[in-house]
Amino acid sequence: MKPIKTYDVVVIGSGLGGLVTALLLAQEGKSVCVLEKNNQYGGNLQTFVRDKTIFDTGVHYIGGLDKNENLGRYFSYLNILNDLELTPLNKNQFDCISFGSEKILYPQAQGYANFIDQLVVFFPEEKEALQKYIDTIQWYCQQFPLYNLQQGFGYNEEVMQQSVEKVMNSITTNKKLQAVLLGNGFLSALNVTETPFYVHALTVNSYIQSAWRCVKGGSQITKAFIKQLRHFNADLFKHQKVEKLHFNGSTLESCETHNTIYKANQFVSDIDVQQLFSMFSTENKQKPYVKRIQQLQNTLSVFSVHLVLKPKTIDYFNHNIYHFEEVNDAFSCRNNWQASRPKMMVITTNPHTKNDVFAQSISLMTYMDYEKVQQWQDTFNTVNYESERGNDYQFFKDEIVDNMLTILTKYFPDIRSQIQSVHTSSPLSYRDYIGSTDGSMYGFEKSAQQPLKTLISPKTKIDNLFLTGQNIRLHGILGVTITGFLTVGEMLGKEYFFDKVFKKVGYE
Ligand SMILES: Cc1cc2nc3c(=O)[nH]c(=O)nc-3n(C[C@H](O)[C@H](O)[C@H](O)COP(=O)(O)OP(=O)(O)OC[C@H]3O[C@@H](n4cnc5c(N)ncnc54)[C@H](O)[C@@H]3O)c2cc1C
Repeated sequence: MKPIKTYDVVVIGSGLGGLVTALLLAQEGKSVCVLEKNNQYGGNLQTFVRDKTIFDTGVHYIGGLDKNENLGRYFSYLNILNDLELTPLNKNQFDCISFGSEKILYPQAQGYANFIDQLVVFFPEEKEALQKYIDTIQWYCQQFPLYNLQQGFGYNEEVMQQSVEKVMNSITTNKKLQAVLLGNGFLSALNVTETPFYVHALTVNSYIQSAWRCVKGGSQITKAFIKQLRHFNADLFKHQKVEKLHFNGSTLESCETHNTIYKANQFVSDIDVQQLFSMFSTENKQKPYVKRIQQLQNTLSVFSVHLVLKPKTIDYFNHNIYHFEEVNDAFSCRNNWQASRPKMMVITTNPHTKNDVFAQSISLMTYMDYEKVQQWQDTFNTVNYESERGNDYQFFKDEIVDNMLTILTKYFPDIRSQIQSVHTSSPLSYRDYIGSTDGSMYGFEKSAQQPLKTLISPKTKIDNLFLTGQNIRLHGILGVTITGFLTVGEMLGKEYFFDKVFKKVGYE
């Protein structure tokens, strides 16, 4: 018989959503425990080290983190903001968008007026369109009260039905400008016909407010959470993969790992929803909402190349570059490959101090469909369970790396001689570490055609089981944090909880 531990609340999965929910509940005096299958807490906040160089897996920059902005205020409530070591990205170009062999780097700048000022230099005849774009972004953001730390929980379906394509066409017919404005669409796996404009607006608006990198990577966010969780006497356990759920009718009584049974009055799941459902009892699997959610489509996965650079060879660059082979490639994450060469690529680096003079690393990312690696789907490789995926897999990756380095020479002509070592991750890495079925980057794809169908309630049809994390409302550090607050609001009573939160950190 396995030992039994009992809590008020058990949180399954220590991704950002799990950490936010657990801390908020612990702050409310609940006895809380967090269960994580991996060696490292944090899910996509995890970092890894190669040749003494830190790399991020799923957080490269964060928006809205000034203490007076939305994420800054939510993080202040969680009491983690002061523990973060952040460095602001370049005010006049936190992101640069570039096409083919064209030399121009089109800037996206911080601050609404500055955003327009920096771009109008390249599009002098489009000043009105740029102003309209900024006004539209802000208008869409105002439609979501929690984004602005205000009470209000309903959704305006009409607002959510507007696709990126439709809204952008109403702003400008200039396709090049559209491509520049949507150039960081990787942040939401953009597909202009499908993605609702609100997803784009909520995401990019936060970076236009302020854009930050985490010094030494995103895992410091996890550390700040763990410090607070311990302060509130919460328990965290790693190497605890939840393998079974035990139900009594539509009540979840306990969950089970390889060596322990955890009982609780309430459970929160931060794990891939499909994985959660696969552990449901036969009776609970039949519920219509389970079937509905199982039909949803996931966002694409990602292929990343991580370069350790030879010392002092490349200056630290305080912006991200979004490269597209052609202007049209900025409009959809689909059809991203021409043989083994991607049509778009994100280029970023990781600061190791607040005043880096040289870059220690470069990371390259591009969309990859799980199908591309499906032939190796029976392999599994993490630090806990190391195993080779085979020579053909290595060959497959090497070809892609070579093509991505060729693209990189546009920005760093001598890059091939400046690299110390090369490391990669594929959809299989994300699948194995995060536990999703296909390594999806951001969870379920949001759809402008059926916006409410792709919004999942934190409440389930199991009386005491709640959901959180990027699948539920919105992905990204900001989206997942707000979703965590919403989950706790559902558990404790939204009026009571948000009243308390906004009294403390809301806008006057
Ligand atoms: C390549 C990439 C780049 C990104 N870049 C950015 C960025 O620059 N800025 C930004 O804001 N956002 C970015 N994101 C998005 C952001 O990282 C995620 O939206 C967010 O971290 C997801 O948090 P989550 O709570 O949904 O949990 P996840 O990160 O999905 O974590 C889930 C956790 O549950 C654990 N788990 C799974 N199954 C079990 C089980 N059975 N038992 C116990 N534990 C389990 C997993 O191991 C994992 O730790 C990026 C994402 C990716 C993939």
